[in-house]
Amino acid sequence: MGRRLSSDSTGRWQRTLYRRLFDIEAELEENSRRLRQLENTLKAVTRQTDDISIGSPCSCGESFLIVRQQVIYCPQCTYRRTM
Ligand SMILES: [Zn+2]
Repeated sequence: MGRRLSSDSTGRWQRTLYRRLFDIEAELEENSRRLRQLENTLKAVTRQTDDISIGSPCSCGESFLIVRQQVIYCPQCTYRRTM
């Protein structure tokens, strides 16, 4: 490293870093919770809808593929294929 920081500015920098880390952790937890909620909702919806099921993630990376009436399609891009 070689650069000298006074203990005061190092402390301030560390506190800023810890606060940032804490914020990121909280955000990550919130996102995981939302993801779980969405997954559970999606599972329930597809269970109640006989002709629809969820496939693998689309190559566009924006959505899972939807399988419905012999057609596989992505709701986010133009991908569409008949089974
Ligand atoms: Zn797609």
